[in-house]
Amino acid sequence: MIETIATSGLILNEPLLWEKGRKGRSGFSLPRRDVETSPMDPALTGEGPDFPDLSEVDVVRHYTRLSTWNFGVDTGMYPLGSCTMKYNPKTNERQASLPGFSRSHPLLPEKLSQGALELMFKLERYLAEITGMEAVSLQPAAGAHGELAGMLLIHAYHKGKGSQRSKIIIPDTAHGTNPASAALCGYRPVPVNSNENGILSAETIAAVMDEETAGIMVTNPNTLGLFEENIKEIAEVVHAKDGLIYCDGANMNAVMGIVDMMEIGIDVLHLNLHKTFSTPHGGGGPGSGPVCVNKTLEPFLPIPRIVSENGHYALSEDFPQSIGKLDTFHGHFGVMVKAYSYIMSMGAEGLKKASQLAVLNANYIKEKLKGVFHLPYDRPCMHECVFTDKNQAANKITTLEMAKRLMDYGFHPPTVYFPLVVQGAIMIEPTETESKEDIDRFIDALQHIAQEAKENPQILKEAPNRCKVKRLDETAAARKPCLAG
Ligand SMILES: *Cc1c(COP(=O)(O)O)cnc(C)c1O
Repeated sequence: MIETIATSGLILNEPLLWEKGRKGRSGFSLPRRDVETSPMDPALTGEGPDFPDLSEVDVVRHYTRLSTWNFGVDTGMYPLGSCTMKYNPKTNERQASLPGFSRSHPLLPEKLSQGALELMFKLERYLAEITGMEAVSLQPAAGAHGELAGMLLIHAYHKGKGSQRSKIIIPDTAHGTNPASAALCGYRPVPVNSNENGILSAETIAAVMDEETAGIMVTNPNTLGLFEENIKEIAEVVHAKDGLIYCDGANMNAVMGIVDMMEIGIDVLHLNLHKTFSTPHGGGGPGSGPVCVNKTLEPFLPIPRIVSENGHYALSEDFPQSIGKLDTFHGHFGVMVKAYSYIMSMGAEGLKKASQLAVLNANYIKEKLKGVFHLPYDRPCMHECVFTDKNQAANKITTLEMAKRLMDYGFHPPTVYFPLVVQGAIMIEPTETESKEDIDRFIDALQHIAQEAKENPQILKEAPNRCKVKRLDETAAARKPCLAG
C-alpha cells in the first residue's frame, strides 16, 4: 500500500440545522427577568421564519464538522494549474485586520486616510518595480476586471489618435477570460495558433496583424506554463502597425523580479494579487487585478488616482484623458494590505527566490512524471506543467478518472481538460510553498495511479473510493445540486 496522507476515518455526517433542532433547546441562558411581561406588537408576531432551537454544542459541532469537509491550501497541497493556489502567510492576514486598516472607510476625509493612501501609493510603486512597468492602478477588483481595464486603455489610446480599430489577436494559449474581456470591450477576438513548441511565432502574428487590429493579448507565461520566447519580435511586429501589447500577467508567480515586462515590449499588463501576492482565492472572495502600464498609456488610467505632494497623499480626478471609474470606490483595500505586507516581508530577493522555486518545483514534477504520463511539450516549463492521458488510453482510463483517484490519496486534483489546446490535459502547478516531501508524495501517488490504470482500471472507474462523497454523476451534480451534504 502506498503511503498516503489521506484517511477516511472520523469524517462525520452532519444533517441540516433544521433537522437537528429540538423544540426548547437553547444556546445560552438569559438572566432572570426583572420587568413585567408585556405582549409583543401583534404586527410583529405573525408568521416568522421557523428557526430551529439548538444548544451551543449543536451549533459548534455543526460548523466544525462542516469545516472538516472543506479542502483548502491550509489543508494540503492544491496543485490546480493556472490558479497559483499557494500557501498565504498568516502574518499578512494579521496586518490586513489591524483596526486602522480594517475599519477605515472610503468616505473618510483625506486627512484621516493618509496611512491607507500612503500604503496604496507605495504598493503601486512596488508593483511597477516588480513588473518593470511605469504606472499602476489598483482599482480593478479581479483579474478579468484588470483585463477589461486594459482593453479600455487600449481603446482610449487608439481613440486619442482618431483611429477606430475593431480586432484583437488572441492566441490559443491565452486564458479563457481574455477573448471575453476583448469582446466585452467591443473588439472581435482573432484567434491564432501556437507553434509546435507551444508558443507563438512572430510570423503567425505578422500574418494577421493589420491596421484594423488594436493589439494582441498574450498570457505570459502562457496557459501551457511556457514562456513566450518570441515576445520581443512579436511586440515589434504589432508596434510597427501601431498596435499595443496586452500581457495577461496572472501567472506572475513564475517571473517576479525576473522578467522586465517593459523591456520585452509590453504596453499594459494586469496582475492577480489574489494569486501571486498572498490573498487566498477560489471561494469567490474579494480579489484585486491591478493594471500596470507604460508612460504612453498612463494618462488613460482609471480615476481617482493617488497622488503625493510634500508627503501628503490625495485622490485626484484631474486626469482628463482617463477611462473613468471602474469601481464604486478604490478596489479591494484588504487585498492590497496583504500584498503590501507580503512584498515587505519577502523583500526583493525573497520574491525572486519564490518565483525560482515555483519554477523548480514544476520542472521537478515534469521530469519525474514524464514517461509515466504523456508530455505534449517536452521542454523547460515555468510555474506549471501539462500532461495528457494518452499513455493510459490503451486501458481506457481518462484524465477525469485519474484526477478523481488522486483524492483517495489525499490530494486535491490538478486542473483538468484545460488548456483546450491539449486534449485530455492534466495541468499541475505545485507553487513554491510545497515541501519536497509533499511533492514527492504527490508524484508517488500519480505514479501509483498510472500503475493502477494498467493493473486495476476498475478502481479508477469507481474513484473516489475513500472520500465522503463518492463518484457523482457530473451532469446531475451540476443540474440538480444537493446542497445538504
Ligand atoms: C486566474 C486568471 C485570470 C482571471 O482572474 P480572475 O481574478 O479569476 O478574474 C486571467 N488570466 C489568467 C492567466 C489567470 O490565471
